[in-house]
Amino acid sequence: MLISITSTTPDATDLGYLLHKHPDRVRSVDVGFGKAHVFYPEATPDRCTATLLVEVDPISLSRRRKGSQTQSLEPYVNDRPYAASSMLSVALGRLFGSAMAGSCEARPELVDTALDLEIEVPVVAATGGEEVLRRLFEPLGYEVGCSALVLDDQFPDWGDSRYLAVHLSGSVPIQSALQHLFVLLPVLDGRKHYWVGPDEIDKLLRRGGDWLRSHPDHEFITRRYLRFGGLAREALARLSDGIDDSDRVDEAQDVAEAEVERPLSLNEQRTLAVLAAVERAGGGRVADLGCGEGRLLQRLLDQSFVSALLGIDVSIGALERAERRLRLGQMSERRRDKLELAQGALTYADDRLVGVDVATVVEVIEHIDPERLDVFARVLFGRSAPATVIVTTPNSEYNVHFERLTPSRLRHGDHRFEWTRSEFQNWAVEVSEQYGYSADFLAIGPDDPETGPPTQMVVFRRAEMAL
Ligand code: SAH
Repeated sequence: MLISITSTTPDATDLGYLLHKHPDRVRSVDVGFGKAHVFYPEATPDRCTATLLVEVDPISLSRRRKGSQTQSLEPYVNDRPYAASSMLSVALGRLFGSAMAGSCEARPELVDTALDLEIEVPVVAATGGEEVLRRLFEPLGYEVGCSALVLDDQFPDWGDSRYLAVHLSGSVPIQSALQHLFVLLPVLDGRKHYWVGPDEIDKLLRRGGDWLRSHPDHEFITRRYLRFGGLAREALARLSDGIDDSDRVDEAQDVAEAEVERPLSLNEQRTLAVLAAVERAGGGRVADLGCGEGRLLQRLLDQSFVSALLGIDVSIGALERAERRLRLGQMSERRRDKLELAQGALTYADDRLVGVDVATVVEVIEHIDPERLDVFARVLFGRSAPATVIVTTPNSEYNVHFERLTPSRLRHGDHRFEWTRSEFQNWAVEVSEQYGYSADFLAIGPDDPETGPPTQMVVFRRAEMAL
């Protein structure tokens, strides 16, 4: 992927001082997921262009994503090598971190100088298209030009792809332009290839503090940049308080950033979201129903808020794999006493579930025949009636983002159905009314404005427990 920044303010070669990169040299660095190179195709007093080229190695990226069960080719064949995304931001931070922080020892007077800049990004995956592109950049004073890229120039009938070639021009200090790109390219892309962790708030406030506060779409930007509801809320609160105590960026931090921003699979995001919900519910005796290979059990077992843990699955093979994953044989007696694995079907009454405080049902209901869902609900909510039940399932609306799936196809061969958000919510509300629970819905993974997130979650609380 590629981005070019051209200055036409004489002496245009000042760009070299500002970017801390000499126009006569090529600078290459390793960015963790590939290599980034900076070079100057043109460097004259009237016009000077710095180009950042990022070579992404999708194979090493997918190898680093441990635990991914996907059988698809998507990790190997995808748009990451050429479409601007959060990875381009990481490379911008890594190579132009000092410029983004406003340091220029050689020519400090240049830092605040607005330059006539032209910025070219030949391939941008723009979720929301031209409209969102304009909404993001025009309020910052850029003139925005773009053209849609055809899907395949051999087959013009196929129409346009979702990628745009983008041209921005404006009179802006280089520091601001880099900050705008750093924050807004991943926002425009709308997907997150990299982990969104709590330190992302600091990064957003550092790079976006001043201009983001006054941007008319700062809420939309913050939500899309941070994805997770809780993080976005905290950042919005800090933005409106005007707390921006960290306007300093050092290169060491940028190096660390590429390391920290490791890919976080949807699986991991789901596990974290469920863990957090179990903790919010107060933990206690927890049952993971349809526990599969025990990925969630493994994490729950370490939590002090979990006093006893029961894993149930219909598949003996899955339970055996769970035993191996959890190293049941080598487990200390104390841990072993906390855990029970048992075979069972969710559509039959099960006395082992009596007295459970929290039940988790993660990516399981879509494996149950729709006509058996009533029995599942009766057995769990009617008979065992845990104080809290946490259910996740795919959101079928999100499937349009999976390039290898048509909208009507299912994500997994054993899925009996996949629900839209409203189908899921209707089911959950019906269950909650029938059995006396409240229902709160949460998004897991990138919450796309049109399709919603890839995974949907509901937290049921038994009515007398709900505050
Ligand atoms: N919760 C796990 C596994 C999800 S896969 C995770 O998130 O990783 C779905 C699991 O549900 C499989 O292990 C399957 O064996 C189990 N399952 C499907 N139908 C079931 C039923 N009726 N009763 C119990 N387990 C069931």
